Amino acid sequence: MHEITAAVTHEPGTHTVESVTLKDPKPNEVLIDVRATGVCHTDYHAYTSDRTEFPVVLGHEGAGVVDAVGSNVTTVDSGDHVVLWVLPSCGDCQHCQRGQSYLCQARKDTRGRMMDGTRRLSRSDTPVNHFYAQSSFASMAVVPERQVVPVDETLPFEISALLGCGVTTGLGAVTNIAEVESGETVAVFGCGGVGAGAILAASAVSAGEIIAVDLDAETLATMREIGATKTIDASATDPVTAIDDYVGSVDYAFECIGSPPTVTQSIEVIGPGGTAVITGTSDSDPIELDLGLFTSGIDVIGNIVGFTQPHVDIPKYVTMYQNGDLDLDAILTDLYEIDELDDAFEALESGEGIRSVVRFDPGP
Ligand SMILES: [Zn+2]
Ligand SMILES: [Zn+2]
Repeated sequence: MHEITAAVTHEPGTHTVESVTLKDPKPNEVLIDVRATGVCHTDYHAYTSDRTEFPVVLGHEGAGVVDAVGSNVTTVDSGDHVVLWVLPSCGDCQHCQRGQSYLCQARKDTRGRMMDGTRRLSRSDTPVNHFYAQSSFASMAVVPERQVVPVDETLPFEISALLGCGVTTGLGAVTNIAEVESGETVAVFGCGGVGAGAILAASAVSAGEIIAVDLDAETLATMREIGATKTIDASATDPVTAIDDYVGSVDYAFECIGSPPTVTQSIEVIGPGGTAVITGTSDSDPIELDLGLFTSGIDVIGNIVGFTQPHVDIPKYVTMYQNGDLDLDAILTDLYEIDELDDAFEALESGEGIRSVVRFDPGP
């Protein structure tokens, strides 16, 4: 048993930083000394939703050091530096066996729980819910081994924390899903963590035109720094018209917000045979499309975590970062302490910054 510090959300939109009990890892689980955690829209969505089961410790983009391992754990050991991957997976189903753990449905059974359906977190003997079997807005976390990816220990924790979900979803959209090649044209709608990841990856493969669309001028300036060849401020200009004027159409559009109007726009800007990669959300909002668009042989693909194989792709991205081919420093816009989580959520809601990370001091 460990007394840890965690941000506990008791009801929609409010949380307190308090002492919580965390039980030891069970078989195939790992105890993590959390050092940094990305702040993601998925956290904010759960934070404000009345469909979330409270109380809960959110956080699903963690990075840290392995403190201890449960029995049967073979891939990491105490002292290893690790990235915590967002999606729980079973390892046994046909999807997991094919290297497509992002399609594993086990995560649906883990809502608020660990893989075995129980909880490790409690507060005054009352169970506290988990989030993506991770709950990394906390000084320590118990996480399934399959979600723990060892990384080079020279990697700063706040950079590691960018690789567990959002940014990797954008990187994978370009490299795994669309497989963009040198010279092909790309438009990215929404330049938060996912969109910035898409622009970084498009730049790394030397895409021909990389068009960034966002509502925030400062964000767009950063996108230019990391490889965008053209930026469009959608608060002032209709992006579909602007892209038409600039290049006619693009080979690939990456919708990185998950909102109906940008989904429609991203499909409208691709040319014949083009591909639109759409970031999924848990919302059930309908989208409106002109059926005629499909007569030009377009492809529309849903983006779930960039079709990432965490143990294959994350080490690859780490090497690219270390070689100077992936400027992750440029998109890490803010660092917060855990008692400043409110400020981090506020910035996220207002669209300020690109990616922020909560840091924890190393324990005694
Ligand atoms: Zn995330
Ligand atoms: Zn599975």
